[in-house]
Amino acid sequence: MNTVRQDIIALLSGEKNGAKAISKIVRISEKEVYLHLEHIARSLKSRGEKLKITPARCLECGFVFESRNRFTAPGKCPVCKGEHIQDPLYAI
Ligand SMILES: [Zn+2]
Repeated sequence: MNTVRQDIIALLSGEKNGAKAISKIVRISEKEVYLHLEHIARSLKSRGEKLKITPARCLECGFVFESRNRFTAPGKCPVCKGEHIQDPLYAI
């Protein structure tokens, strides 16, 4: 468990990655990636650091999903109903 988190932290140090990329590299499911990210964000905060999140964005109309729970990827754009969504990206 701990090692996976350390791997994710190493992966996000200075480089933006989405949950899909993380799940492939660390070999866990996307769902697990989100759980780890939430935990990582909390422990970084307690150390005075921050998990930087680039919010998901609709590739069709440019809508940015600022207000939703930013850890998970939205399936559909509420504005244009497009399904080409750039997943949120994470970095430390
Ligand atoms: Zn859209």
